[in-house]
Amino acid sequence: MTKTKEHAVSRRAFVKGSALAGLGAATLGTGTLFACSPQAESAKDDAANTEAVEEQIVWTHCAVNCGSTCALQCHVADGEIKYIESDNTGSAEMDQPQLRACLRGRSLRRWLQSPDRLNYPMKRVGKRGEDKFEQISWDEAVDTIASELKRIRETYGDESITVHYSSGVSSGLMGSSVVNRLINLNGGCLNYYGTYSSAHISAAGTYTYGGGTYGSSFLTLQDNQLVVMFGNSPADTRMGGAGHTHDFAWMREEKNLEVINIDCRMNDTVCGQGGEWIPIRPGTDGALCAALAYEIINNGWADEEFLHTYCVGYDEETMPESAKGQNKSFKDYILGTGYDLTPKTPEWAASITLIPAAKIKELAEKIGTTKPVYICQGYGSQRHANGEITSRAIMVLPQLVGQIGLPGTSDGRREGRSAFALSSFPAGENPVKTNLPTFMWPEAIRRGEELTALNAGVQKAEKLSSSIKFIFNYAGNTLTNQHSDINGTHDLLQDESLCEFIVTSEVFMTDSAKYSDIIIPDLTLQEQYSLSANGYADNMEAIVYGSPVYEPKFERRGIYEVCTDIADKLGIKDEFTDGGKTREDWLRQILDESREKYPELPDWDTGMAQGVWKRTPEPLIGLKAFIDDPAGNPLKTPSGKIEIYSETLAGFADTWELADDEVVSPIPEFDPGFESYVSLTDEYPLLICGFHYKAHTHSSYANNEIIQAAAQHVAWVNPVDAEQRKIKDGDTIRVFNDRGEIRIEAKVTPRVIPGTVAIPQGMWHDADMSGDRVDHGGNINTLTIYRPSPLAKANPQHSNIGQIAKA
Ligand code: SF4
Repeated sequence: MTKTKEHAVSRRAFVKGSALAGLGAATLGTGTLFACSPQAESAKDDAANTEAVEEQIVWTHCAVNCGSTCALQCHVADGEIKYIESDNTGSAEMDQPQLRACLRGRSLRRWLQSPDRLNYPMKRVGKRGEDKFEQISWDEAVDTIASELKRIRETYGDESITVHYSSGVSSGLMGSSVVNRLINLNGGCLNYYGTYSSAHISAAGTYTYGGGTYGSSFLTLQDNQLVVMFGNSPADTRMGGAGHTHDFAWMREEKNLEVINIDCRMNDTVCGQGGEWIPIRPGTDGALCAALAYEIINNGWADEEFLHTYCVGYDEETMPESAKGQNKSFKDYILGTGYDLTPKTPEWAASITLIPAAKIKELAEKIGTTKPVYICQGYGSQRHANGEITSRAIMVLPQLVGQIGLPGTSDGRREGRSAFALSSFPAGENPVKTNLPTFMWPEAIRRGEELTALNAGVQKAEKLSSSIKFIFNYAGNTLTNQHSDINGTHDLLQDESLCEFIVTSEVFMTDSAKYSDIIIPDLTLQEQYSLSANGYADNMEAIVYGSPVYEPKFERRGIYEVCTDIADKLGIKDEFTDGGKTREDWLRQILDESREKYPELPDWDTGMAQGVWKRTPEPLIGLKAFIDDPAGNPLKTPSGKIEIYSETLAGFADTWELADDEVVSPIPEFDPGFESYVSLTDEYPLLICGFHYKAHTHSSYANNEIIQAAAQHVAWVNPVDAEQRKIKDGDTIRVFNDRGEIRIEAKVTPRVIPGTVAIPQGMWHDADMSGDRVDHGGNINTLTIYRPSPLAKANPQHSNIGQIAKA
């Protein structure tokens, strides 16, 4: 049973403030981008010594896709946000956490009140991507969207329509689901599965554990225990008070944890925190895992009883009937009695991973002999050409040593999160069932009718019936900026004979928005009513009740109101609004439904006044129910067990159409994947690897100069590689490959492994696309490959080769 603890929060409606207070928390110092401390917040009081103005405090929340949802108290006067505080309720101790915002969220007023906001509907008057638009009326915008939707639907069918993958508005209940409701009521659209963030680990979780991306929460960690992380840095991503950084930092201190972080970069989760960084060549985590398995098995550290009770495919004894007697088990592969007759020794792995064999042996001994051990992975190690197989390889480690389902353990997936959630906005049922891997959308524009279950991972249909002709892009920057190979995608989208209509609802002229035929100016979530449950937090279950910070300005409109007008043109307004409901009506209804499940939730008026509600959950232990009673609580895999060997994947390997350099395997063997270290050439001798950075959440906040000044956008270059090219710290460099060239400042640092250049993803693309196409914004996606991975058909944006030179 879940133990809950309610925290008192106070109602504060109006305060006497100061014009000087408007300088805001973001200017109080940039020593950290982590959630600011209450002490830092109190500093603003010292500034409050001039002309008094009446301010209203309005609660709302940050809504971007970092994985957290942080509360914001906006001090509003004269229709402007003067400064922003965060959650300061509770004591901020581990059992009374705060939904404290990082500097990104605290800088939100610079976003909302930016002179660069989109203010009016616009139509394109140049070529796509040329950034030539002219203002139009809302009537013309709505008419055009509705008539194009109707025309394309009648010409090509509902499968030619998509609501594009997006994450600019990720928390809150009425974002892209509003668009989905409109499209679903109108006949439906092509479905997508998988995300740009986690499609590989999601597929790996499906074929290994029967589903799920998340394992145990950090709260289960025990005194003095070992934690091993692969490609994981919550300190760079989930930085808020309700995020994993807070929980992990707290537990590390309280429990005196031994932390080993395996990454190509010494990331901020390990840097300066007393843990150990094991540098690894990007994309080779699977080879490390194989060598660790070799040592664990050969030294007798494998938990054979666990493997024989809970797993399929560890050894011959646990192989399914279809694969018995063929030396296809995981143990055969590792010990060299499998198909390749290669023992996966530490020496074998050393030349691949660039980790010395002695270090691999040392790590194997720690994992094999320490109990409990908590093994997890972030999304960094899986966003590669071989991401799904790598993700499965990491999951095998805790299986080998029987460290799953117990306090202090996890199952090799991402650190756990609370499942607490509000009811959803009813997007309705999509009459179209065909489901395409998200990352495949450019192929579906180029040659949709050729995409099948066997060559493109199409689900719930044998093939697509149409190419994509209509895109509704709500708060998304994955048309170009966040998608791979920007130059190639530019050429694809410019061809109006392929995708015939693109509408974007946005708050800024993003690079993706420039490829739209119609742009409609959105209200931010903070300018509307909102309800948001906590994000990926494990130490908190919470809701932020958000009120509009001020009245809408210019001709900006919320997506629900716009879709209501489009629905009217399509003759489905009554169904769309369910008889005339407003946005507020829906949110009140959702809250009422949620209160039936969680009666302790404050009602609308109380919640809107107090801003946040929160409670503390019990620690989560991944797969505990299955481990406690495997027969009573089987997994959702075909066998009901953990599948180290997957018959489903064996079937895919036999039937799917794969290129010679693509591997789908029933066991998590090591495959380098395309565009890996084995692809390096004299022309392109470096791996170019992206990472998520604290200065922006994907591309959100990347146009905020204050935040970028605090954490600069620079390419991490090892001194060995810099020396060879006479590059000095601070130099502007060219980074280039066959797909394009960017300009970026070099940060020469031993915190990145030699042979790899690490570049934060998410900066805004800035190139003359009718000229040299050199990207002065330093967007890594000018360089990344657009080629879906073999199994998940997912994003390989960390797998690239290239070269650098002083500009
Ligand atoms: S970016 Fe994430 S951590 Fe920062 S304030 Fe927003 S939700 Fe919180």
